[in-house]
Amino acid sequence: MSRFFSQKYKNLIPYTPGEQPKDMKYIKLNTNESPFPPSPKAQEYAKKASENLQLYPDPECRTLTEKIAGHFGVKYENVLVTNGSDEILNFAFMAFCDKEHPCVFPDITYGFYTVFAEINNIPYTEIPLCDDFTINVEDYIGIGKNIFIANPNAPTGIAIPRDEIEKIIASNPDNIVVIDEAYVDFGGESCVPLINKYDNLIVTQTFSKSRSMAGARLGFGVASEALIQDMNTVKYSTNPYNINRMTMAAGLGVMEDEEYTQTNCRAIMENREYTVNELTKLGFIALPSSTNFVVTKHSSVGGAEIYTKLRE
Ligand code: PMP
Repeated sequence: MSRFFSQKYKNLIPYTPGEQPKDMKYIKLNTNESPFPPSPKAQEYAKKASENLQLYPDPECRTLTEKIAGHFGVKYENVLVTNGSDEILNFAFMAFCDKEHPCVFPDITYGFYTVFAEINNIPYTEIPLCDDFTINVEDYIGIGKNIFIANPNAPTGIAIPRDEIEKIIASNPDNIVVIDEAYVDFGGESCVPLINKYDNLIVTQTFSKSRSMAGARLGFGVASEALIQDMNTVKYSTNPYNINRMTMAAGLGVMEDEEYTQTNCRAIMENREYTVNELTKLGFIALPSSTNFVVTKHSSVGGAEIYTKLRE
């Protein structure tokens, strides 16, 4: 730490990104990416966009935002496109949480939530999962704090049905509820259809998993016009050109090639079921996954040993 580092960050423990090996000798999945390359259309559009990199990108990201809105049957004003879904999550923490508006999320969940809360000086509570690693919906009913829930949750992979999530949203009308749907395309139920019913709901999604674009950094939020406006205020006060031209173009290619995304999701889900079956035969116990990863442990061999051997 330099002697210039702000005191306000001196205790901050940053998020640790997953390992990114460089050798590419195997199919790399450890940060829950897709094993499939991005849609050929995405690659073609990104290449074309590279011809104009001397120009700033559209700060409104209008074409892509309209395309995403159309896909979900919502208005342009209901969508904010961001640099990965990490950015929209941070915008939500910045825009809606503070000392008077603390937040709550499960323990265990996506590790970045605590970091976002810490860097923005937001008090937070972590609610333990049940013994079977599920989220107890009752714990969040009328809790009176801003709520962040990954659904399906990570890294458990377990999903909550939409009507259960709706109970949480409906019972906390004076707090925002952020549903992080990074993995929803692998078997979860999206809450996007609820955004016109609840003005306190923000749904976030990403292009990093089902849409094979982790390397391009693209995510988005869907919410009421007013919530999107607030998060836009944060965006235009931090990074107005948050989506670069190539990513914006690639994102449009992905959205125009929905069949490609759906086919890949089906393949991943089939492989997941196959993997779980085979693991079970080998004496593993797996949590019921609605994501592109599986949490599992062996009945007799320890995790550290399996990890080491797999690395070898
Ligand atoms: N939410 C969850 C639950 C995640 O696991 C991840 C990826 N690690 C993200 C959000 C952020 O992904 P990205 O910024 O690539 O969209």
